[in-house]
Amino acid sequence: MTVRVLGPGATIGVLGGGQLGRMMAVAARQMGYRIIVLDPSPRCPTAQVSDGVVVGALDDVEAARHLAHQVDVITLDTEHVPADVLDALEAIVPVRPGAAVLRTIQDRLVQKQFLGRIGLPQAAWAPIDGADVHGALAKVGRPAILKVRRAGYDGKGQVRIDEGGDAEALLARLRGEPAVAEEVVPFVREISVILARGLDGQIRIYPVAENVHHRHVLHTTRAPAAMPDARRKAAEAIAVSVAEALGHVGVMAVEMFELADGRLLVNEIAPRTHNSGHYTYGACATSQFEQHIRAICGVPLGDPRALTGAVMVNLIGDLWAHGPPAWHAVLARPEARLHLYGKDAPAPGRKMGHVVLLDDDSDRALATAEAMLATLAARS
Ligand code: ADP
Ligand code: MG
Repeated sequence: MTVRVLGPGATIGVLGGGQLGRMMAVAARQMGYRIIVLDPSPRCPTAQVSDGVVVGALDDVEAARHLAHQVDVITLDTEHVPADVLDALEAIVPVRPGAAVLRTIQDRLVQKQFLGRIGLPQAAWAPIDGADVHGALAKVGRPAILKVRRAGYDGKGQVRIDEGGDAEALLARLRGEPAVAEEVVPFVREISVILARGLDGQIRIYPVAENVHHRHVLHTTRAPAAMPDARRKAAEAIAVSVAEALGHVGVMAVEMFELADGRLLVNEIAPRTHNSGHYTYGACATSQFEQHIRAICGVPLGDPRALTGAVMVNLIGDLWAHGPPAWHAVLARPEARLHLYGKDAPAPGRKMGHVVLLDDDSDRALATAEAMLATLAARS
């Protein structure tokens, strides 16, 4: 099959108008592509920097078809687009990554079965059969985390069950959504491998990122992670095997837990650009956003090499509790790059932006990040 290369000037459709779509759109338009986004809000972060917007919900197949007829290829800002909608779009225009990839990823149960099938190590897990949480807990033990199968993100749709916790009451917090149970992993570190896979199967891997989460939401990323070579290669090999087994096209992230004995467990797969890859925008020769555009358009992938070490720190809505933070603390730092997503409702826990600190000394950059956050939070 010959693949039609989509050069600059082509039009890319994006399903979902969040910050990932926004940063993809900025990269795409810089290269001369056009961007049209589908989102319920005409003022969403992506629409603000796009050539056009189709206003509609992500499960509105007619709105999605209307987008598909105006573009040369479709991609995603979120994996939570119903796979049936993607099937309908694939009949009109290429969708990258495709409906089959999304079907495997967007249900945690199916994703875990896939990881098991290709032989990758994971935390012990079990499906929860209806209201019988005890059967699942008998398999994974306590403490455990219950996670809804679909549509969870940033720790939403998760509850932890400790030794004495009332399992049924905690399960009820998931409001009857189908869920899985997982053992709580005593990890020493969380890492992620971000890579891109092109239409022709070529793969480019970014420096491994080391992530710290606060209350299940990504707080900081440091890259490159300080890892022994063999462990880094093992992590990269896991991510490559996921991308190849899926037949993925585009950027993809594989989140992993690193154990004290050096073993790596796969936590979850994101079939898209990823928060832990934001550092690539500024720190690497080609950002994950440009790389994704290249991959889905079938043009050669760019150089993922890091030009400097970096730390990324997320800016969460809580920082806006007393009004907009005083950005001077960020803007006055020569190594700092401020990214704000143009969201108008800074709710607690909501990702509003991030800062990338370009610094080869990542311990210093992490300390700077915390000091900066303290200054931003103290403003009022
Ligand atoms: P999300 O889709 O919200 O990113 P994750 O499954 O990645 O969901 O969970 C978010 C974070 O919660 C993880 O990065 C990790 O810090 C913590 N977490 C999730 N599952 C486990 C687990 N089984 N053991 C320990 N920590 C976990
Ligand atoms: Mg995650």
